[in-house]
Order: sequence, then structure tokens, then C-alpha cells
Amino acid sequence: MSSDEGARAPRRRVNGILPGLVKGLATTARTLTRPSHTAEYPDAPPSLPPRSRGVIALTDENCTSCMLCARECPDWCIYIDSHKETVPAPATGGRERQRNVLDRFAIDFSLCMYCGICIEVCPFDALHWSPEFEYAEVDIHEMLHEKDRLGQWMATVPAPPALDPGSAEPAEVAAANKPARAVRPATPTGTVRMPVAELTGAEPTGAEPTGAEPTGAGGATTVEDITVAGDVPAAGDEQP
Ligand code: SF4
Ligand code: SF4
Repeated sequence: MSSDEGARAPRRRVNGILPGLVKGLATTARTLTRPSHTAEYPDAPPSLPPRSRGVIALTDENCTSCMLCARECPDWCIYIDSHKETVPAPATGGRERQRNVLDRFAIDFSLCMYCGICIEVCPFDALHWSPEFEYAEVDIHEMLHEKDRLGQWMATVPAPPALDPGSAEPAEVAAANKPARAVRPATPTGTVRMPVAELTGAEPTGAEPTGAEPTGAGGATTVEDITVAGDVPAAGDEQP
């Protein structure tokens, strides 16, 4: 390297540093005049979108213990216990029914990865997202939220967004608004008159004149009184 080249090298270095320094100072000056984006949490609560995934809330009245959520949970962090109960028939002559009674529903939030699959698969809208996120604990065992605690989160679940104008009524709302079917009163044991051919399954051998009382003679169909239990169809009742 010649002596001239050796003197020019530091000058080039200074020429390269100066514009960078000026640019950096200009950026600092510009940023100083802008408002700060730093949130001083927990003194200043963060402004989160209303449908943030904070914690899962449970409406246990909607839960039928179908176990779909527990089966689909990739972390296996949903625990459900239930037992069966017999519900008596609503009217005389009806049948008893069996229903599941929820004993325990718990989510271990120390394992949950907030994927939302349990909420998506629940067919009865028993699980919902709440934006609440301040439930950190010192003891990891406290991250297991039981039914009562999950139910308390329901108060923080935002209302669903309004339907699009002109959209069809949701099926569950239509079903809830449908008038209940009247329960037919059970008829006590009674006697009906039935053609013998109908009882035995035999083909009638002759045509019956309209309105004529069957006699059983000459190929006419005979009738017999039979006793039936339960509903006796009244005249004019529609047959299924
Ligand atoms: S959000 Fe995902 S990981 Fe958490 S309980 Fe539901 S299904 Fe399991
Ligand atoms: S999927 Fe819904 S109804 Fe079924 S057990 Fe889970 S929360 Fe209950």
C-alpha cells in the first residue's frame, strides 16, 4: 500500500460513519416525539380483543356428559365424572327415561394449550372462551379448575355477535320457540269391536255393503269384542 492510500483510508471510514450517526440521531429524535406503546402491566391493564382466548368457561346446565370434549382434547386435560339417573314418566302410561348427571368437570390449565377444540366440538354450547387471563398461581395444582370455578368464568364471557341481517333463525332458537306438544290423556282400558279377519289375519271372503252391520254369514266378515289396554282410538283419530 502506498503512503497516499494509507492517508485516505481513515478519511473514508469517517465519511462512512458520519451519515450513519446522523441518521441514527434523527431516528432517536423522531421516536422521542411519538407516544410510548409500552403498557405498564399490571398498573395499566392491556387492551385485548374482546374474544381473546383467556380461560374456558362452563355452563354445566348445558353439559350432558357426552365426553366429546374430553375425547378430542389433545392434552387429555379435561376430567369428567357422571352417573345415570332415572327420570319418571311425564304422564301415566309413559316411559321412564335415563339421563346423565354431571358430578365432576375439571380442566387442568397447566396442561391446556388453548387450542379451543373442546369448545368447537361441544354440541350443546356448554363451553365458551372468556378473555380473562389473570389466573396465574404460585402452586401449579391450583391451575386445575373444577366445575364451580369454571362456572364463575361465565360472567366474563362476551355476548355473541349479532346475526347478519336477513339470516335464517338459528335452529336451536327455532326449536326453543316451538310450542310444546300437548300430552294426550291416557285412555283407560276399554273394548273395541274388530273384524275377526283382522284379528286372525284371514282375507275377507266377500264385499261388505257400505254401512251394513257385518253378520258373519254368507261370506260376510264377523266382528268380535276385544279388550285393549292403554289408548283406545276414538272415531276420527288419524292413524299414523
Ligand atoms: S383448549 Fe385444547 S388443550 Fe385446552 S382443554 Fe380445550 S381441547 Fe384441551
Ligand atoms: S362436549 Fe360439551 S356436553 Fe359433552 S361433555 Fe364436553 S362440555 Fe359436556
